[in-house]
Amino acid sequence: MNIAILSRGENLYSTKSLLKAGEARNHTMEVLNPLYFNLTVEAGKPVLYYHDEVVDDLHAVIPRIGASNTLQGSSLVRHFEGAGVTCAVSAEGILNSRDKWTCFQILAKADIPIPNTVLGDYYDASFLLENFKEKPVIIKILEGTHGNGVILSESPQNALATIETLQTSKVRFILQEYIAESKGEDLRAIVVDGVVVAAMKRSCKAGDFRSNLHRGGSAQPIQLSYEEERVALKAAKALRLGVCGVDILQSDRGPLVLEINSTPGLEGIENTTGKNISKSIIGYLERTKR
Ligand code: ADP
Repeated sequence: MNIAILSRGENLYSTKSLLKAGEARNHTMEVLNPLYFNLTVEAGKPVLYYHDEVVDDLHAVIPRIGASNTLQGSSLVRHFEGAGVTCAVSAEGILNSRDKWTCFQILAKADIPIPNTVLGDYYDASFLLENFKEKPVIIKILEGTHGNGVILSESPQNALATIETLQTSKVRFILQEYIAESKGEDLRAIVVDGVVVAAMKRSCKAGDFRSNLHRGGSAQPIQLSYEEERVALKAAKALRLGVCGVDILQSDRGPLVLEINSTPGLEGIENTTGKNISKSIIGYLERTKR
């Protein structure tokens, strides 16, 4: 197959790992920068140009769309879908998972447990806070990543000031119950084609509550419980993502889904678990090629 990785970072671990896995299966692999495409519709058909050359020989693409590039990147993926190219993740899946509130709405609709969450758009700050009964509250901007834009507000006064600041700056956010018993740890499961292919537990560094590896957290491999695995698979299905990372908090009332990532970083989890996730992704493309 001719497979392109849609990535701005040729030298990133994840890109290189996918290239290697594809080459090991004798596919023709290349990296194309999503920013260098031109999209057109000609005689009613979607046409893609890379710089000024028509792209019509690809069988599959693996989108690695960064958070700063969501709209343009998902539009590119939709064009590939329209042109009949197999995509490891869909445009719809990228868009729906990137916006934390949309993602929670879809999870809730599918009856998947999530922390209690309130959208910050509509009401005044004190009304919003009434939902949390003076308890610590997590405030998250909708399009944050790597733990940026996630605030733990321990007092209602502090939460009030933060909410008013975000509302005044017209930054969209959610309020969320703080799952204290997760103790700064969460689980990251990678789901490929309806199977959990790797899972790790991430722990925050001292003094933080965010377990993101980008924030200095540490990780160890873990075997998910039956319930955690069930929830991870259900979440991937609800977001219609053939490939994704599912983040889960372990709470007193069982696993709660925190986030779905349509472009999960592979470095941390492949190194932690020793699993070749890239190989699983290539296998998925081989099975689903149109
Ligand atoms: P990002 O997309 O920026 O990684 P997350 O929603 O995944 O944002 O939050 C980052 C980290 O903060 C999580 O991995 C988790 O460790 C911690 N965290 C987020 N929400 C909660 C919560 N409701 N209760 C407890 N810890 C949380």
